[in-house]
Amino acid sequence: MKTKYDVIVVGGGHAGCEAALVCARMKVDTLLLTMRKDKIGYTSCNPSIGGIGKGQLVKEVDALGGEMAKAADRSSIQFRVLNLSAGYAARSSRMQIDRKLYNNYMLDRVTLQEGLDVIEDEVKEVLSAGASATGVRTKTGTIFNARNIILTTGTFMNGIIHVGLEHSSGGRLGEEASMGLSRNLADMGFAIGTFKTGTPARIDGGTIDFSVMQEQKGDEFVIPFSFSTEAITLPQRSCYITRTNKKTHRIIREGLDRSPMYTGKIRSTGVRYCPSIEDKIVRFPDRDSHIVFVEPEGLDTNEFYPNGISTSLPLDVQEHMIRSIKGLENVVINKPAYGIEYDFVSPAELKATLETKKIDGLFLAGQINGTTGYEEAAALGFMAGVAAARKIRKETPIILDRSEAYIGVLIDDLVTKGTREPYRMFTSRVEYRILIREDNADTRLTHVGHELGLLAKDRLDRVRDKTLAIAEEEKHLDSVRVFPGGPVDALLKEKGQMPLAGGIDLTTLLRRSGISRADVLSLEGRGEKLSYYERVQLEVDIKYAGYIDRELRKIARFKDLENINLPDNFDYSGINGLSNEIKEKLSSVRPKSLGQAARISGVTPVAVTILMVKLKGAGSRGKS
Ligand code: FAD
Repeated sequence: MKTKYDVIVVGGGHAGCEAALVCARMKVDTLLLTMRKDKIGYTSCNPSIGGIGKGQLVKEVDALGGEMAKAADRSSIQFRVLNLSAGYAARSSRMQIDRKLYNNYMLDRVTLQEGLDVIEDEVKEVLSAGASATGVRTKTGTIFNARNIILTTGTFMNGIIHVGLEHSSGGRLGEEASMGLSRNLADMGFAIGTFKTGTPARIDGGTIDFSVMQEQKGDEFVIPFSFSTEAITLPQRSCYITRTNKKTHRIIREGLDRSPMYTGKIRSTGVRYCPSIEDKIVRFPDRDSHIVFVEPEGLDTNEFYPNGISTSLPLDVQEHMIRSIKGLENVVINKPAYGIEYDFVSPAELKATLETKKIDGLFLAGQINGTTGYEEAAALGFMAGVAAARKIRKETPIILDRSEAYIGVLIDDLVTKGTREPYRMFTSRVEYRILIREDNADTRLTHVGHELGLLAKDRLDRVRDKTLAIAEEEKHLDSVRVFPGGPVDALLKEKGQMPLAGGIDLTTLLRRSGISRADVLSLEGRGEKLSYYERVQLEVDIKYAGYIDRELRKIARFKDLENINLPDNFDYSGINGLSNEIKEKLSSVRPKSLGQAARISGVTPVAVTILMVKLKGAGSRGKS
């Protein structure tokens, strides 16, 4: 058996799949070691991909040459754009997926990938010589050697599954936990923490009364996740909406004495934005109803996922509680809800490449970094794969910054601030969100994917065509003028707008709030030539021109600070004027730039100025 590789990826979840595929596609010899081959790319919780802040990550991974978007497109059974009324910056796509089709698609991509070996085994130990990774030892006693190891263990390290006061070891329902690795990492000096998450029961659709629920159809206009997918071909399915009620809440309150969370058996921190139903009842006692989305698990299964009622209450309470909900009175539970605790490594242990600061060649990605979510995991896995492959190829690392990509924000937040609770991406975390949106992920990042050798030239050509089409249309709108006394008078009257004082070009007209692209086209008697995403870019360019200018100036200032290097061995302890707390934080995070230093919580603007003065004295140079 071959035992020597360039890169070993541990774990075949969302992070592991992207990491392994990217390494193999960048032509480094790669091994994926995972506990269950059949579960490669498996979705542990929701049968959905995307969502607020997450859709952007999926698009970016696709624009860089990753796989998640394509897997979602091939298994999509419902598409919706969320936050439609909140403006372009916050719009995010979400797809309901067929869980089995998604899983099969990823399994095929990984197992059929040239240059990627896949072995089913459990890694027990990371091997190192001095401060460099050398390989891993597995449960079967095999030693696999590689100078680069990417750990993507998800919820499996020391996983404990809770159903009521019963608990058992497990990484996911029906799968063993990964034991030993967490101890090994702690022995290597890594800061290990424990988080928790949970999932609802899976229920039998044949026992659900959909007729009393509100049907929620997907959007009619379906936009694929991947910039390379022409169309979504699977039949689309509806979700259904129902609600908990006072009786549900009473049952839950009465069951709290057997809740692992409220009897102190689970002490770790859970996902703030995805609380269990018992958490919602306790934290919001005034609310007598919470929404439940009943989501299909796939096309050829009658199993449903009741989104909104994840719980770790005992099975009898689960049954009683769920049957108190309208439409679920006779429901049969196929699989119980459960909570899970698992170990993660503090992301403050990582450099911006996701390589650990302590062990050269050891990378961490996905839920092991303290994040939650498939999309966050895929983005981290992809970037760790790129970093490991480029390290092997002796190429400079690629680091996306906060003004370029959601991925840049995700990684910068994690490595600069660490995390005290499972980290989930949101649009609100992103400073320059009007500039970095879902629709322009291709124009922002395709060139990077192409340079990495992950995307063929046709993807670049598409971006060029898109850019040209928008530029041509902008030129046209600048060149056409409308005058008072013409058809524009009627349009402005209809829209309740001030009449024109003199002639204006169509760009200026479109800049008026309340005037849409469709209005301008109808004025000219023209049809729409642009694709949806070209239209969005055009409208954003025109309607937000002033705001975009301001944002670009902010980015220039941000880049100024980002371009001032802080040497790796910088001695913060001897800098006069910095508090001991700030010195400790800077010494522990070891920021790469003054910009990163400024984002560490507790590092004040005064401290940044002191650092800048000190650096000038030391003659530091900007980044190349
Ligand atoms: P995973 O998808 O967990 O994959 C880990 C992989 O590593 C598995 O293939 C496993 O076999 C393998 N592995 C682990 N240890 C070893 C080892 N030592 N050797 C070899 N292979 C190993 N996310 C949300 O966004 N919202 C939620 O509400 C939510 N709820 C969840 C509820 C539950 C019960 C669970 C289990 C997960 C939930 N998640 C939720 C999290 C979501 O599933 C993860 O964020 C995502 O799957 C993480 O991807 P990953 O690649 O890091 O790890």
